[in-house]
Amino acid sequence: MKTTLHTEWTVADLCKGFVFDANEGKGLFGLSGALTIQPEYQRHYIYGDGRRDVAVVESLLKGYPLGLLYFVQTEPGRYEVLDGQQRITSFARFVAESNPFSVVGSDGKPHHFSSLPADQKARIAETRLTVYVCEGTETEIKEWFQTINIAGVKLTPQEMRNAVYSGPFVTAAKAVFSDANQPVQQIWATYVKGDPRRQEVLERALEWVSDARIPASAATAAGPGKIDIYMSAHRASADIGELRTYFESVIGWAETVFTETDPLMRGLPWGRYYEKYHANPYDPETVARRIRELLADDSVKNPRGIWEYVLGGEADTRLLEIRVFDRKTALAAYRAQTDDAKARGVSNCPLCATGHAANAKRIYGFEEMQADHVAAWSKGGATATSNCQMLCKTHNAAKGNR
Ligand SMILES: [Zn+2]
Repeated sequence: MKTTLHTEWTVADLCKGFVFDANEGKGLFGLSGALTIQPEYQRHYIYGDGRRDVAVVESLLKGYPLGLLYFVQTEPGRYEVLDGQQRITSFARFVAESNPFSVVGSDGKPHHFSSLPADQKARIAETRLTVYVCEGTETEIKEWFQTINIAGVKLTPQEMRNAVYSGPFVTAAKAVFSDANQPVQQIWATYVKGDPRRQEVLERALEWVSDARIPASAATAAGPGKIDIYMSAHRASADIGELRTYFESVIGWAETVFTETDPLMRGLPWGRYYEKYHANPYDPETVARRIRELLADDSVKNPRGIWEYVLGGEADTRLLEIRVFDRKTALAAYRAQTDDAKARGVSNCPLCATGHAANAKRIYGFEEMQADHVAAWSKGGATATSNCQMLCKTHNAAKGNR
């Protein structure tokens, strides 16, 4: 019995050659004919109810993970779906438009795949899938299928890896990272999201150390990820020293820099922050004060970006998604500015008006302009009427820093 992780297939790949057989009520083939979607032993397609099939496509649109899929390799390059038939048939009906249905697009209207905006189509089609391909005898595969289903609850990706790379390393690592009763789990929970019993804390620990230790070139899109490479390399050893030390270094560093904690810190990519910023000096008191101020600032639309914003010396305001002016405020500014510009015979873009180019007297339409903070938000300017001016799109783009 051999199991291989595949992450190279996209939704579009699986939909190649898909046909839905309306007569038998099942999807036939995918992956350009190499994949049999509903082998005889599978239960029937039951997602075609206008609810669960729609939910699958909506998950893809939102970028939610579709969960693990399991294929059996029947001969080299040919596969059967062992688990995932309902999900595959749902998205393939939609994407290949064979017995299609519609979903609500970002414009609030129902769409078939072909009428969705290009970016939404791409988002669906380019979604990468996580597929475990199993090879073995029928008995082995049946047993395997039972082990991946614990009373109907699917294994998490890390539970799956623990099964694939089982051995002294996994045993030692689980003793440290997967015991929910260890008091230290409460400290870790400030930074790490997930259930230790479902191996989600171990997964973060492995992700952080493998991101830091394994070069990007080793993990290709078509092959196993860094966690798999790391686990495979350490599989036979009970020494988890590097894994543990690295994890504790990341958490210890975060605790030192951020003396005040907030629920929003949970699940941030602390391993990446550590690699990027841990050599920089910080004053924990100043850091704590700035974070409190930013958390209270109405202009910050993405508060989870605050920690990295502060770590990076408050240089990249894009992390915070600073609120833009609403349409009413922008229209009021546009009218006042345009009336004034017409009276003076100059452009209603104040930056165009001061130039000598062809646009110095141009009156732009409202849709040709964008609202700009006169005093940049990062310099203390508020997102308020008094701080709003309209600029032509060219000048607004050139100004950049909000
Ligand atoms: Zn301009």
